[in-house]
Amino acid sequence: MAAQPAPPTLVVQITIDQLRPDYLDKWAHQFTGGLARLMKQGAFFTQAFHDHAATETAPGHATLWSGRTPAHTGVVLNEIGVADPQSPLLFGRGGGASPYRFRGSALFDWIRSRDQFSRALSVSRKDRGAILPLGRAKQQVLWYSLDGRFTTSRYYGDTLPTWVQRFNARDFTAKYLGTSWNLLLPVSEYPEPDSVGYEHEGKDVVFPHRLDADRRNGTYTFSDFPWMDDVTVDLALEGVTALDLGKGPSTDVLAVSLSTTDAVGHAFGPDSRELHDQVLRVDRALGRLIDSLYALRDSTRIVFALGSDHGVAPYPERFFSGTDPDRGRVDTRPVINAARSALAAHGVEGDALLLQSGILSLDRRRLAARGVNADSVVTALRAALLAIPGVMRVDRVSQLAANAARGDTYARRWLNAVPRDMQAVLTVTNKPNYYSFTTRYATHGTPHDYDAHIPVLFLGAGIKPGRYPQYVRSVDVAPTLAAIVGVEPIEPIDGRILRAVLMPDVLPPRR
Ligand SMILES: [Zn+2]
Repeated sequence: MAAQPAPPTLVVQITIDQLRPDYLDKWAHQFTGGLARLMKQGAFFTQAFHDHAATETAPGHATLWSGRTPAHTGVVLNEIGVADPQSPLLFGRGGGASPYRFRGSALFDWIRSRDQFSRALSVSRKDRGAILPLGRAKQQVLWYSLDGRFTTSRYYGDTLPTWVQRFNARDFTAKYLGTSWNLLLPVSEYPEPDSVGYEHEGKDVVFPHRLDADRRNGTYTFSDFPWMDDVTVDLALEGVTALDLGKGPSTDVLAVSLSTTDAVGHAFGPDSRELHDQVLRVDRALGRLIDSLYALRDSTRIVFALGSDHGVAPYPERFFSGTDPDRGRVDTRPVINAARSALAAHGVEGDALLLQSGILSLDRRRLAARGVNADSVVTALRAALLAIPGVMRVDRVSQLAANAARGDTYARRWLNAVPRDMQAVLTVTNKPNYYSFTTRYATHGTPHDYDAHIPVLFLGAGIKPGRYPQYVRSVDVAPTLAAIVGVEPIEPIDGRILRAVLMPDVLPPRR
């Protein structure tokens, strides 16, 4: 029997927030950095999807690195994500945050269950981007505090690690305040129009984009500029050195979530010149991350996986002709307000009924206490919601499983989005390219493919390079990494090992 290969000493979990896979092929000829290396030397799954609806940041991060859908992680929406007043920030702007809603285990827990000396560092601009890739693990988890520093919450400790204090003391935003984001390449390299009136709510739509010189404003909006990703990579690399991550013999985890693509995508849209330039800058930032890690550690003992938490839809203005500023937008408010008024007339407070990101929840006990028949409320609501222009379907949660079993993709994605103990009764899916009424920026969150389709790439020892066109799911990423490390999930998961991508010497036996 052949000797088992030495397991990796460093697993690098990369999440690029709002990275659609079509960006990779569209701009491959302009990549010189990490995306180029991942695409050329790694394994690229071109048909990878989140198999859940409510394609938001928190559920996406939780699912990618746990191998379980939001129905099982309990991280359903950003609003039902990491916010936690019990775990205030050590300092900085923003609310408290922790993974207390996250149920079960993540990849790092599986690694740790074999080797208690394994350690992890997770960094992001966003709290949810830093927290959820490590599940509930109390490791070094850091995010941008929107005041020129990186912070963490009391969940992880009462003081910031010394090396992070040193990093913050260098005042890393200072050199950017008052400077401008210019195009990385000559303007002829960008076919997109720059001046598009509906982008960025009509303000500052043309390059260059200047970061406010004022310290308070500038350190806040810094998170919307590509440099945010650069300093996140700087922090990751400094942490690897300070903590001796990846030196072996244990397998350590470095989780890096780069958020600026999401900020730029929301503000300017997926078809903007700004987004194009941002993705080129992500490629360069990732190149620096990979090159630096290879210089610091044995490159044959590092494995990388890259995924995204969700895609994004174009601005409705691109799809719907005319000049009506509300075109392509769905207004559920009259229906919800009318239903709440009807409940109030029976003494049931309005918050017994909630519509959040397409999930309609109803507190049946409170209705029952007032003698209101919840089933007839649900039936009436469903009919009223279906009548709203732009609504494609309204599913009863109680029928999702049966419809999913018949091969209905939308039903399956909603089924995978909603934990069984949530009081969800209906799910609302808009027609493709329709937004919610109040949304004036580009966005995501639907079960449509443009929000669910993500790039998945692996690079490193144990990985067979190539393009893989088969349909795979985001829940498959964590178990595939686990197989390379040589560990197994410590609980039932939804994903499966992507065996096609594994070298024979790391293939676990079939069972
Ligand atoms: Zn996101």
